[in-house]
Amino acid sequence: MSESDQGERRLRLRPVPCDYCGAEESEPYLSGPDRLCGLEGEFHVVRCARCGLLRTNPQPVPEDLPKAYPASYEVHEASVRRPDPPTGWLRWALVNYRNYPLGKRAPAPVRALFWPVLIPRLRHRDGIAYLPYEGEGRMLDFGCGVGAYVARMRAAGWDAEGMDLVAEPVRAGREAGLPLCQGTLPGADLPSSHYDVVTLWHVLEHVPRPKATLQACREILKPGGRIAVVSPMSDSLLADRFGSCWYGLDVPRHLTHFTQATLARHLEAAGFGLDRAVPIRRPTFARRSFRYLAEETGRPLHHRLGRSRLVARLLSHVARLLRRTDEVLFLARRPEA
Ligand SMILES: [Zn+2]
Repeated sequence: MSESDQGERRLRLRPVPCDYCGAEESEPYLSGPDRLCGLEGEFHVVRCARCGLLRTNPQPVPEDLPKAYPASYEVHEASVRRPDPPTGWLRWALVNYRNYPLGKRAPAPVRALFWPVLIPRLRHRDGIAYLPYEGEGRMLDFGCGVGAYVARMRAAGWDAEGMDLVAEPVRAGREAGLPLCQGTLPGADLPSSHYDVVTLWHVLEHVPRPKATLQACREILKPGGRIAVVSPMSDSLLADRFGSCWYGLDVPRHLTHFTQATLARHLEAAGFGLDRAVPIRRPTFARRSFRYLAEETGRPLHHRLGRSRLVARLLSHVARLLRRTDEVLFLARRPEA
């Protein structure tokens, strides 16, 4: 490996205070390598001694953050496709239970009849991305990557736009005709009180100052507008068992490691009123965590478990029953006044 390659794989780090309370004192939580992209070094997660928030510390210096996302980072690899509008049961359910402007609503007795069948499906993995339609349908997807979600939501009737810090995926999305811009929050020049919904799918744990990011999201939302945040949960069933091999840890890219309690607290500190937290069942976390564990231990059993869809599904159901899933969707609103 050449010297410049080595420079690319090593990040400069600096200590940072707690994003919630500003304290610098902390206690060790766990340490591990970069299992996803293989950047050099051992990374440490600490627990704030004052408020309990988990953070990666030290963290990559801001100028080196792009280096933490090498070309192999899978999220950027997805190409931009032009999705079709929702069809079939999904379209019908979105019109009748989620307010989507995709057709005429059925009479109330018909809606009531199909409610018990369709609502669980809407809350399932694919359905959950379709948030209830709000206001004029103005949506911003913050941390949009190439804009796959923006494209899906536009096809479903939203006036959706996207923003991402990284130039390359934004350019790819724009070339595919999507309204994406490069930038970050706080910092980007966006109109205040403009959007009905702002979404952050697996983004908040990546930004250096999540509270400031949430506050900036609040400013661009209309009064009464809604924020949707999905993040991995460090108090999930699997996070407890797998430790540094848990797929949702993803150091050094994840800078803050939220739990259900600390994310709710962050949203409230940024001026949001919490609506609800929806546990998301995601079997991938178990399979990937077993694979990391297999790499660490070399045990054939862990390899086999990493390939088992059945075990992964079973574990995800147990986690859902215990309300300790690896991902949770938080819905919150900017207060009206
Ligand atoms: Zn703190």
